[in-house]
Amino acid sequence: RQGVVVITGASSGLGLAAAKALSETGKWHVVMACRDFLKAATAAKAAGMAAGSYTVMHLDLASLDSVRQFVDAFRRTGMPLDSLVCNAAIYRPTARTPTFTADGYEMSVGVNHLGHFLLARLMLDDLTKSDYPSRRLIILGSITGNSNTLAGNIPPKAGLGDLRGLAGGLRGQNGSAMIDGNESFDGAKAYKDSKICNMLTMQEFHRRFHEETGITFASLYPGCIATTGLFREHIPLFRLLFPPFQRFVTKGFVSEAESGKRLAQVVSDPSLTKSGVYWSWNKDSASFENQLSQEASDPEKARKLWELSEKLVGLA
Ligand code: NDP
Repeated sequence: RQGVVVITGASSGLGLAAAKALSETGKWHVVMACRDFLKAATAAKAAGMAAGSYTVMHLDLASLDSVRQFVDAFRRTGMPLDSLVCNAAIYRPTARTPTFTADGYEMSVGVNHLGHFLLARLMLDDLTKSDYPSRRLIILGSITGNSNTLAGNIPPKAGLGDLRGLAGGLRGQNGSAMIDGNESFDGAKAYKDSKICNMLTMQEFHRRFHEETGITFASLYPGCIATTGLFREHIPLFRLLFPPFQRFVTKGFVSEAESGKRLAQVVSDPSLTKSGVYWSWNKDSASFENQLSQEASDPEKARKLWELSEKLVGLA
């Protein structure tokens, strides 16, 4: 039978390109889990995705209620779940004041990490029940959270510290909106921190559930896709210069179509079944198992992050 894959944030950029790549194989039905239903439906049509190869469903990761409603609505469709891709993200690089989710958590970590954490925890049940031969749970990572790379060393550097801000609820007013408890808010760092959370969460899922369920847990850095909507809040000059800079100076530029193929590989390629891996691609577009920085692979931090996140999303 066809596989069923849920992709969050499939209304633009990498998520849309992967949705298109998977639907075109004819082997996958893609559930596009998006906060803006109309935008997603229009994007799928404009991308030329065949009617019937996808379903658009509403999911706003900035609301834990919406996450729970999405899971209920998905179950009511009767579709099995064979692969879940936690792809959506927001990036507020110039923000000096925090904004908050419906539940009152700082937005970058709230959407990129906490919303996905609840979604993945709830949908693990659905993945476990699936009879598909290779079930996968994929959480997007990034080079920017990895201090063992050049890009990961551009200030502000990611760092979760002792997670005291997260333990305090990332509220901002009476505590800190930053995971490390720093009192001043930095939107660029909040994004990088959220990506460390994504990579730690994938590994903690692997440690807790891989052996018992056989599910493959994976993360990836798809390359620098300098043209996506991720940079929409950056200053105009940055948006103008970043794509040519990546294309001609760092040579790390990857097109949306190529990045979509990479993510589609992690969903469906029979050779990428190893669990607990952070995939990257070399200049010839060949995949390899990449190393994570010390912090992004710290098991003690991953355990603490897991337990605090459970409390914040109401699972503990
Ligand atoms: P885009 O901004 O193009 O796509 C992000 C998607 O997330 C959009 O569909 C957006 O929806 C959705 N989204 C944002 N907030 C919410 C929310 N509250 N609820 C549901 N969906 C939401 O960025 P990219 O395609 O570049 O990013 C995709 C992933 O790739 C991210 O995880 C990012 O960290 C990762 N990544 C990207 C890199 C790059 O160079 N671009 C490099 C490394 C990793 P809407 O369309 O409605 O705004």
